[in-house]
Amino acid sequence: MKVGIPARINLFKFASQGLALSGNYKVEDFPRVSALVNNASAPLEVELNFNLENDKIPCIKGRIKLDVALTCQRCLDEVKIHLNPSFQLAFLQNEQQGKGLNPNFETILNADREFSSIEFITHEVLISIPTIPTHAYECASYKGIPEKIGQNQSPFVILKQIKRSK
Ligand SMILES: [Zn+2]
Repeated sequence: MKVGIPARINLFKFASQGLALSGNYKVEDFPRVSALVNNASAPLEVELNFNLENDKIPCIKGRIKLDVALTCQRCLDEVKIHLNPSFQLAFLQNEQQGKGLNPNFETILNADREFSSIEFITHEVLISIPTIPTHAYECASYKGIPEKIGQNQSPFVILKQIKRSK
């Protein structure tokens, strides 16, 4: 497998070089994602573009593409969902730095200068996975929340509580 994204992201170095990286992975390369889906061998494509905004703020614009097979919380059959999260992140050393920054950026304070690309991508995928996946059509007549949801729901609830720390 050829991957064009290094295991460690060196934020300032990559941003000052204006690197554009892309990688082809499998879902199973991201254990925390893989644990939630039924299609661990599916492909996962990532594009990351680094730049220095206002000559000093390292930023990452990126896109991820994957299909996940989840359990529909209405009929409990499999539901395939296409995920295409995109993000535009600015890594600030203090809030002052954010003044004048394009408001489209999601700002992150005090990030590490170097971090794991797998962890970073994992986080972006996890926040894009629906909390309660269901088929887009009326797959089961709605009679309140099914009994089994208690078992299946918990990992997704936990996801919502994961804060962006890196
Ligand atoms: Zn369903």
